[in-house]
Amino acid sequence: MHYGFVSRYHNSTYNAQQQTEAQSDARHALGAVDRLEDLMTRHALVLKTLLTFCEQKGLFKEPEFLKLMEEIDLSDGVADGRYKPQGQPRECVACGRKNRRTAMRCMYCGEDIKERDVM
Ligand SMILES: [Zn+2]
Repeated sequence: MHYGFVSRYHNSTYNAQQQTEAQSDARHALGAVDRLEDLMTRHALVLKTLLTFCEQKGLFKEPEFLKLMEEIDLSDGVADGRYKPQGQPRECVACGRKNRRTAMRCMYCGEDIKERDVM
């Protein structure tokens, strides 16, 4: 017996399902990127406001601030212009995926991540 047609049918059904799942994953990823971009621009606004406020109040000068920033950058063991404290990834209660320990929202589904650290 020849089942070539059945095999082709199953392959095209499988491919269509894979395409639908890939499109869904892509929409999820784009949503996650949008949320991260919103969060980053919000953080940039808060940080700029805080720095401007502190400088206006005479709490520090920029060189002093940059020196402290370098120290904090080094405190995670890597001088890379970033601060990445060590710790276990946080699992999302909604989707079960792992997120950074400092995440406020799940980067996959947007769920609030409870018991989070301040920074
Ligand atoms: Zn999630």
